[in-house]
Amino acid sequence: MTRTPRSGRSASKTGLLVGQLTSRVPRGFTKADNNPRVVGVAKRMEHHDLLSGLVRLHVLHHAAEEPIYGQWMIDELARHGYRLSPGTLYPMLAKMERDGYLTCHAEREGRTSRKLYSITEKGRAGLAVARMRLRELVREAGQG
Ligand SMILES: [Zn+2]
Repeated sequence: MTRTPRSGRSASKTGLLVGQLTSRVPRGFTKADNNPRVVGVAKRMEHHDLLSGLVRLHVLHHAAEEPIYGQWMIDELARHGYRLSPGTLYPMLAKMERDGYLTCHAEREGRTSRKLYSITEKGRAGLAVARMRLRELVREAGQG
């Protein structure tokens, strides 16, 4: 099974469904925020603007290791405590592609296809700079 952006719900490789999130509603969200029909409209990561750069670096990091697809990245980010809906992540991936950090190709699986994102040369260069800045930030601000 695969999913295409905004296609609602379908199984992912790791089995996490959009609908499964309804049982765990994080603080600051209402049940409606997890309704697949309104995903992308109402659901929003807490402190989104503050943390979105970290999310993008996280995406770049994994795209540098192997091609990634949206739902895998959503699950991976959730593992790290970032709750992003497809309606938030997919536009972010598309923007990173437009900006030249990622390149995308469709992988066909039967009748459906899945978008796989890989890092570009510009992405690797950006990631290298970000790693330096991150180390610096951790040295200074990571002490708490
Ligand atoms: Zn990770």
